[in-house]
Amino acid sequence: MNEKKLPSQEIMRRARVQRAPLVVRGMPIQCWRCKSDDMAVVVIHHDCYIGTPGYGLVITDEELSLAYARELLQIAAHPQAETIKVRFSRTASDSYLSNGCTACDSLFGASFVSADLNTLLHEDAIGTLPVLATVEREALEWYVLEGLAGTSGSLARCFEDDAFTKVATDISAD
Ligand SMILES: [Zn+2]
Repeated sequence: MNEKKLPSQEIMRRARVQRAPLVVRGMPIQCWRCKSDDMAVVVIHHDCYIGTPGYGLVITDEELSLAYARELLQIAAHPQAETIKVRFSRTASDSYLSNGCTACDSLFGASFVSADLNTLLHEDAIGTLPVLATVEREALEWYVLEGLAGTSGSLARCFEDDAFTKVATDISAD
């Protein structure tokens, strides 16, 4: 006789058994310093994302989601992973995990990247951005990322502090 499962156990079982193909996309950007045509890592989404604005899309504009995008790119052995690192920003007077130039390593300021990306979001043009990698992960990872990321939904505001961001700072310091 089969032992009965609680619904909560079944939810977790499915989240662990199901696999989620996760797509990392870059956005073409010109380096402000050396003027080379380059790329910033900007979004992660499930392969089944159909372009509904603000749904099923994680924008990598905070440290944990950007660090996670880097991890996916590392798994896929994509060289763009190496461009995501902690750099000092004079504008922010602080160091943060950032996109940067492949050629000269200049920081691509988060606010500039966000401004360009917002335009694309409003034009519903995320699907036109180049795919850097598609990596299959436990679905649970995607659900948690989507639930907690500051840009996708989002449950982050329901938490009392920024513990999520603090964890990100720790894991991104390499
Ligand atoms: Zn450059």
